[in-house]
Amino acid sequence: MRQSAIVTGGASGIGMAVVKRLLDDGWPVAVVDSDEEALTSAESTFGGDNAIFLAADVTDEDDIGDVFDQIVDRQGLIGGLVNSAGILRDLPADETSAELFREILDVNLVGSFIAARAALERMGATLSIVNISSVSGLRANRGRVAYGASKAGVKLMSEVLALEFGNRGVRVNCVAPGPIETPMVSRMHGADDRRLWMSHLPQGRYGEPDEVAAAVAFLLSPEASYINGHTLAVDGGFMAAGII
Ligand code: NAP
Repeated sequence: MRQSAIVTGGASGIGMAVVKRLLDDGWPVAVVDSDEEALTSAESTFGGDNAIFLAADVTDEDDIGDVFDQIVDRQGLIGGLVNSAGILRDLPADETSAELFREILDVNLVGSFIAARAALERMGATLSIVNISSVSGLRANRGRVAYGASKAGVKLMSEVLALEFGNRGVRVNCVAPGPIETPMVSRMHGADDRRLWMSHLPQGRYGEPDEVAAAVAFLLSPEASYINGHTLAVDGGFMAAGII
């Protein structure tokens, strides 16, 4: 039986584009998201024999364990996990409370760890994990003290998992997107933010969710069988840019 792939945060934005791409690639896909309305809408778009849709919060270890058990019962052992569930706040450090800092770490970093552990405990012969970091986890961007720390943590966590499980049929990689046109970015980027980001993007535009999904699908697939512990920026050249 083909192993299943799970996409957290799969009901919106980058996660949703990944779901579409993985279904096109022939994976049985389980979409896990805390936004039940978005899940219902994703189900009406992608519903079919190969996709299932489950509500869960990645910060809740018991909830994730239950949902991953259901996925194994319905779709078989886990061969792929994409951690796309995440939240963004854009605030100066002196306006970031410890409570908000903890909340962002909890969803973006601890939530990715909880899902990764749950997948490792239910994996098939092989498991490929792709975590969504961010260019804000690779460079200091104003307003990203908590978000950037969480995404830097996702990168390092991926490297440690890649190291500890590398000889057990497991690969763990990261994709670090630049600004991508998703509901999260529509909510957060006003006209001034867009101008500022645009002035640092050699390709002169925001990315599309499909462009991130293509990189995720590659890293998840056996085509990337000797790539482990890598972070691939999908950022229109942001990481390479100096004066532009
Ligand atoms: P999005 O459109 O907001 O999608 C994220 C999805 O995750 C939403 O459906 C969200 O539900 C869900 N989610 C949030 N917290 C969750 C939780 N605790 N448990 C389960 N699901 C949860 O965002 P996106 O832009 O596609 O971002 C996807 C990932 O890419 C995130 O990790 C983000 O940090 C990262 N990223 C995005 C960009 C970008 O420019 N878009 C750039 C770099 C990195 P709610 O809508 O209810 O919150």
